[in-house]
Amino acid sequence: MSRIEVMQGDITTLAMDAIVNAANTSLMGGGGVDGAIHRAGGPQILEECRKIVARQGGCPTGEAVITTGGKLKARYVIHTVGPVWNGKAKEDELLTRAYENSLRVAVENGVKTVAFPNISTGVYRFPKERAADIAIGTVQRFLEHEPSLEKVIFCCFDAENLALYQARLSKS
Ligand code: ADP
Repeated sequence: MSRIEVMQGDITTLAMDAIVNAANTSLMGGGGVDGAIHRAGGPQILEECRKIVARQGGCPTGEAVITTGGKLKARYVIHTVGPVWNGKAKEDELLTRAYENSLRVAVENGVKTVAFPNISTGVYRFPKERAADIAIGTVQRFLEHEPSLEKVIFCCFDAENLALYQARLSKS
């Protein structure tokens, strides 16, 4: 059975070991999924983000950091920063790295089940089809050599992303 699943819904409600946040480099919260996670998880998440900022000055695009899940059902939030879409080739690479580094941080922290939002496809305007290809390809390649991860869920918020992921995953 595939370890990759797709669903439509609100990622803040999921009982996974970790959920991934599409954060920004400041780690100080924002709109979209970032705002939803901080609202649902409570102030403890931002407190830990502040400590990370004090230590390393934010989170560069393509990197990932981990905090508590606060009041969420998820034990951890993995904050990653996807690229803002400007139509340049390096943005594919940065989105790939956002997924890879999130998975690496998950494994380093003993996470077995993790859910991703559709990183960069909201305010950051990354084309949804292109982002879905990158997200699925990167997760599939990572899982090939990482047996400790039991489940990766793509939690799509909108119907358009859901359809893109379903079409791709039914073929693989
Ligand atoms: P980015 O700045 O990386 O584009 P956004 O938060 O604007 O981040 O959007 C990323 C994706 O998260 C979008 O597809 C958006 O529809 C989705 N999203 C927004 N709220 C939620 C939520 N509560 N759960 C899951 N996905 C969400």
